[in-house]
Amino acid sequence: MRLIHGRLISICSVIAMIAIAGTPAKADPPRVIATIAPLHSLVASVMAGVGEADLLLSGPVSPHDFALAPSDVRRIAAADLVIWVGAPLESFLVKPLDGAGDRQLSLLKVPALNAVPFDSGGNDGDRAGPDPHIWLDPVRAIAIVTAVVDRLSRIDPDNAATYRANAADISDRLAALDEAIRARLQPVASRPFIAFHDAYGYFSRRYGLQPAGYFAVDPQRRPGARTIARLADLVSAGTVACAFVEPQFDARIVEAIAAGQPLRIGRLDPLGVDLEPGPALYETLLKANTEAIADCLGGTG
Ligand SMILES: [Zn+2]
Repeated sequence: MRLIHGRLISICSVIAMIAIAGTPAKADPPRVIATIAPLHSLVASVMAGVGEADLLLSGPVSPHDFALAPSDVRRIAAADLVIWVGAPLESFLVKPLDGAGDRQLSLLKVPALNAVPFDSGGNDGDRAGPDPHIWLDPVRAIAIVTAVVDRLSRIDPDNAATYRANAADISDRLAALDEAIRARLQPVASRPFIAFHDAYGYFSRRYGLQPAGYFAVDPQRRPGARTIARLADLVSAGTVACAFVEPQFDARIVEAIAAGQPLRIGRLDPLGVDLEPGPALYETLLKANTEAIADCLGGTG
């Protein structure tokens, strides 16, 4: 009995010590929302040890045709910081973030990210404005991390040292990832391919890949007859031996063109819809896409 009593006392005193240690008014971590899983992953890495970032688009949805639910609008209104790519990708955020000032961070507006227009890829129908798929380039991901740290440190200076230490860590990892991707793709980089939608301009330029065209310049629109005919010609002429589908979009057009042709079909995921959201997602996503490209272009996929 004394033993039990003694143990009870020690448990109680531990609880009391925890309560006391937790008492000094430690500010809540900032409420941060990131729109897509790869951005959320980078933000989650920066915030490790401080708090958890919230992911706006989870599951197999495309930011190109997403609509906000009333609960999303409330989450956005309550956030200290919303991190998004920008109007060309998440057009549904333009209105809710109108006048949000420093409560929003549009990465396309960050000069260090050096956003550039779409490559037409030879397809008909160019789009105006910068290509929003900046996160697929790991070197630009380092600039994303820097922009996020700068803004977070400003709204939450108490944790700035942690954010900066995390960012230094992540940046080293991203630089190593860049090297690994370059080494993996170098042997197959010169072989042309067709991507499902025009999302891989930054990635392709970074590693010297040769996109020959896209089924969909804009994934919300079905490719026109001319685009399909031109891509089918590339395939039947043997110019292109590999085409990629994506989990978010209907792959039947790709399969129709591939029917009866020596066309390998690979799968690229620009968003990581099948992956567990969190700090590890970004690297896992880029490694999976790199393997898919190496396999399909290399003729083993
Ligand atoms: Zn896209």
